[in-house]
Amino acid sequence: MGSAEIEEGARRFLLDLSGALGVRLSKILDLYFSVHPRRARILEIVEEGGKVVGVRMAVESSTRRGVWHYVSVGPYGAKCTCEANTFGGKICRHIIIALITWNMVSLLKTGRAVDVNSLGWLKRGSAEG
Ligand SMILES: [Zn+2]
Repeated sequence: MGSAEIEEGARRFLLDLSGALGVRLSKILDLYFSVHPRRARILEIVEEGGKVVGVRMAVESSTRRGVWHYVSVGPYGAKCTCEANTFGGKICRHIIIALITWNMVSLLKTGRAVDVNSLGWLKRGSAEG
């Protein structure tokens, strides 16, 4: 798989994610570009039958340096340790960052993008902000 296909897979995923969450594409792109190795770390890549079926990450708080939120995403749901998700049940920015990362890992490892439309839980939850 060439880099053009990876870029196309990433671009389409961001568009689909924006549509599914009802969040402006510019906001999704801000999160996409905010993913920096010092502020977001992959802890685990979950693979099954040659597919990447989820990731677990630590994402640093955007407001409090040194405070990390632990987030996992997969086909059946997402969980994050931040207040917006734990108490508000919101799809927080950390979950969106983890979704974007999951898709990139899947594209790079298997050449397959994550199908946003297969994530039924995305539409049930409401996005933060
Ligand atoms: Zn969170």
